Amino acid sequence: MNRKRARLEAKRKNLIKQLVNLDPWIQGTVVETKRTCGSKGCACRRGGPKHPAMSLTWKEKGKTRCLYVPRQLNSEVKLWAQNYRSLKMIMEKITKVQRDIICLREKGSGRK
Ligand SMILES: [Zn+2]
Repeated sequence: MNRKRARLEAKRKNLIKQLVNLDPWIQGTVVETKRTCGSKGCACRRGGPKHPAMSLTWKEKGKTRCLYVPRQLNSEVKLWAQNYRSLKMIMEKITKVQRDIICLREKGSGRK
């Protein structure tokens, strides 16, 4: 095997390791908003401070979808969304390595 290719494959192996070590991910963007709650006696209904709320938005068949995230899941969902971004970044890097491997082959005129 070509030395350059071996180096690229080592790089790819390293990237795949990062990929495998990622915790669960979720597609979407975390949006933090404020909202009024359901209880009639709450100050938020009378112009008082609203409650922080978190939603996850994403696109599905051209439509923007939105999902309310319960408070107890907020930090977890943030992490999942962050993992999704890391996942995409690693995938892009691997694609780049693969392209480099294809280019090596083209230039490697040693064999036909
Ligand atoms: Zn309230």
